[in-house]
Amino acid sequence: MSNLAKNYNRKNISFKKGKGSYLYSHNGKKYLDFVQGIAVNSLGHAHSKLVKTINQQSKKLWHVSNAFTIPEGEKLAKKIAKKTFADYVIFQNSGTEATEAAIKVARRYFYSIGKPQKNRIICIKNSFHGRTLAAIHASGSKKMTEGFGPKIQGFDHFQFGDHKKLKKLITNKTAAIMVETIMGEGGIKVIPDWCLKGLRKLCNEKKILLILDEVQCGIGRTGDFFAFDKSKVKPDIVPIAKGIGGGFPIGAVLMNKKTASGMIPGTHGSTFGGNPLAMSIGNTVIDIVSKKSFLNEVKLNSNYFHKELNKLKEKFPKIIKEVRGRGLLIGLQLYKDQTIFIKNLMDNKLLTIKAGENTIRILPPLNVKKNEIKQAIKIINKVCLSYQ
Ligand SMILES: *Cc1c(COP(=O)(O)O)cnc(C)c1O
Repeated sequence: MSNLAKNYNRKNISFKKGKGSYLYSHNGKKYLDFVQGIAVNSLGHAHSKLVKTINQQSKKLWHVSNAFTIPEGEKLAKKIAKKTFADYVIFQNSGTEATEAAIKVARRYFYSIGKPQKNRIICIKNSFHGRTLAAIHASGSKKMTEGFGPKIQGFDHFQFGDHKKLKKLITNKTAAIMVETIMGEGGIKVIPDWCLKGLRKLCNEKKILLILDEVQCGIGRTGDFFAFDKSKVKPDIVPIAKGIGGGFPIGAVLMNKKTASGMIPGTHGSTFGGNPLAMSIGNTVIDIVSKKSFLNEVKLNSNYFHKELNKLKEKFPKIIKEVRGRGLLIGLQLYKDQTIFIKNLMDNKLLTIKAGENTIRILPPLNVKKNEIKQAIKIINKVCLSYQ
């Protein structure tokens, strides 16, 4: 009997080691891992530079309190500020802490300018912002909030794409609109660039803040550092997490100068967030994934992947409904049952994971090799053939 609580529906498989795109199970099998901890291991398993960083830093210093200056965190924040819209960063340990912090920053900003009544956040119905109490209510998902009452107030919801409803929801109590640039859990639904521009314009007109949740789609996943980069939109607040630690738990909320102004000493904190060990790893990850040549490679490989998947869609029009996503955040929306399809892929040594709307998520490491993509295509083709 397992003493782990039953809150996960775990597969009966465990792994003893990983290298790059591959995982090796305890029962001696080798899998192509296109889950990578759900877009977390941006550089694959056991990347040599990350192994070196963690070894070196672990001999020097793991943890000190945020009561002291932490040079590794200063350095990472500076790099983020240099590369992005952000002027300030608060480090956390996970995605949900990052989105919680984003909500706090938005509310605190309006409080600090004498408008505390502006505290409501508008979100997309059935989006995903994490599992803490505020984040589940931000998601507006019945499944995630059921049984966790009382309801956390302060969130309004519109359906993905319902611009009319969105505009109607904005009142003098609204502080911000918070959306995932690409909805991950919800089924890899991309908010188009023209729509992001429209959101920015709307927020400017209404003098409210734009929060883009890049926890899953950010940090090079789309071939741009942020998924919103291509749109040229500048958000006010951006929570990040998954990819930035390359497998080590790191989250952060990024802010422009204006919105950060409310976060005076004592307004937010974290015991673990931003400790030297985490920060040294974050520095190594960002140095690699923010390089132009690295991001170009992500674009090239993902273009190839999308092209080949679309060929499979043409070949199997009764199995694959749509190829979704951008870069290496890929969704295959199916006509067939996703759970069985994922199991079939796994039986053929390819690991993928499900998302909403009967979509399977394909999340290779960002440094995936072309022949590994070819191998995945071969397996998906084989599984599709088995349905005929
Ligand atoms: C995964 C995810 C989160 C939550 O991250 P955790 O680290 O699991 O708390 C928040 N927002 C988005 C968009 C995510 O994909």
